[in-house]
Amino acid sequence: MASPQPTVAIVGGGLAGLAAGCALSDSGFRVTLFERRPYLGGRASSYEHPGTGEVVDNCQHVLFGSCTNLIAFYKKIGIENRIRWFDRMTFIEPGGRQSVLESCEDLDRIAIPYAAQVVRESMKSPTARRMGIPTVPLTELYNAARDYITARSGAVRFRISVQSFAPSPEGVRLELQDSEEEFDNAVLAVPFDSLAKLLPDSPQSQDLREKLSHFETSPITGVHFWFDRQITDLPHAVLLDRTIQWMFHKSMLLNKNSPEAESVLNSQSLSSRAERDHPLADDLFPPRDLVLSRSEAEAQLHSEPAPKGRNSLAQRVSAGYKPENTESRRDATDTAGIPSYVELVISSSKSLTPKSRQEIIDLALNELREFFPRAREAKLLKATVIKEVNATFSPPPGIDRYRPTPQTPWPHIFLAGDWTATGWPATMEGAVRSGYLAAQALTSVSGSTKNLLVPDLPGTGLMRLLR
Ligand SMILES: Cc1cc2nc3c(=O)[nH]c(=O)nc-3n(C[C@H](O)[C@H](O)[C@H](O)COP(=O)(O)OP(=O)(O)OC[C@H]3O[C@@H](n4cnc5c(N)ncnc54)[C@H](O)[C@@H]3O)c2cc1C
Repeated sequence: MASPQPTVAIVGGGLAGLAAGCALSDSGFRVTLFERRPYLGGRASSYEHPGTGEVVDNCQHVLFGSCTNLIAFYKKIGIENRIRWFDRMTFIEPGGRQSVLESCEDLDRIAIPYAAQVVRESMKSPTARRMGIPTVPLTELYNAARDYITARSGAVRFRISVQSFAPSPEGVRLELQDSEEEFDNAVLAVPFDSLAKLLPDSPQSQDLREKLSHFETSPITGVHFWFDRQITDLPHAVLLDRTIQWMFHKSMLLNKNSPEAESVLNSQSLSSRAERDHPLADDLFPPRDLVLSRSEAEAQLHSEPAPKGRNSLAQRVSAGYKPENTESRRDATDTAGIPSYVELVISSSKSLTPKSRQEIIDLALNELREFFPRAREAKLLKATVIKEVNATFSPPPGIDRYRPTPQTPWPHIFLAGDWTATGWPATMEGAVRSGYLAAQALTSVSGSTKNLLVPDLPGTGLMRLLR
């Protein structure tokens, strides 16, 4: 008689848990993934923002050609065609002066300001330097991983918060909100602060608890603006010498054929229609109540459905943004009257944490107008701020010493997450690597020697000498 399929519980539906779940499904395990939220993607997710009725990413996420494991993961779950690649990056100074960096330029001559892994890898070759941007909202992207797992006899269960685990010599018992379930193995793919709450109160947890005490987080803030017109023809730009650091022209980047993006476009046009119906446009601009933090937005999740339905203005929005045109310049008059959606990103945004949402909106709008003169004439229809206070773990010198490997004191329990020992900073690539490393550690227990990690890209030019 064939031995029963071994089971594994994955706790956490972020990139780390999804990568581990897909890899273990491939390796013959029956996967049950528990996610406490009603959607996948973790810190790289999108949701219908209750205040604005828009589908928003919690923050714009980008990747580089050097993210070999993330790209392989996208290929595995069939979404690689939902990433649009850019070979040029535009840097803008206050006042509007632009310079362009092409990924094919010889970076052997350019000093690397710091040796972060992601920078080093991205500098290795033109392919490694290409920047990828999803053309659909993030959760739509990662729903493909759910389909991958369920098609291989697994299950993905939402709104279940795992409370704790009890290891045993044969497996693991998970305590859920109101029940317990047993599995042969578990991968705990949660952030470091969530793991601290799951650990049993036993001497075996001591070493891990000590390591976790060294981690701190760093905030990232996203400011989302909906304007009545185009403020730039650029798809994205790096903004220099001001608080705001990145501009992503979301209505240009989102694929008009995506159902969720369509809802974004529709609700934009509904705002504009409402503006025509109500000339006091300022009424539509939410001074406080429609500007929510992530936790407030989650609390209200599903309480206010986004407006649906297409109208002629939405079609004009779609028609105005052909992917193949995204890097070309158009006459500003071509796009007059076509609304736009822009997201600004501020990394390491500690200085913004104490500021009110209105202060952040005012600051970001004033700065944006310095970079893009057309923004001075544009009417702001809606705005929201999403502060991710615990966005990523901050990497002080020496933190690698405390980043744990997937193995734990319990033989059937493994760790994953962007904060574990991957050699990468807190990125989607790091998270996917951690998921693959956890899957590899588990499969190696039953004798597999298969390497699940995809190799890094080779360097070109002098960059070959790195590492
Ligand atoms: C604002 C922001 C911008 C970023 N920008 C970029 C970028 O441009 N490029 C890039 O590569 N990376 C970026 N990152 C980093 C990237 O999002 C993360 O490194 C990556 O998504 C982490 O994945 P993870 O699976 O390790 O953790 P998470 O995404 O945090 O996933 C953990 C999951 O576990 C769930 N969970 C926690 N506790 C429990 C429990 N007890 N029971 C059940 N489920 C539980 C959580 O709900 C969550 O879904 C950004 C992050 C943020 C926040």
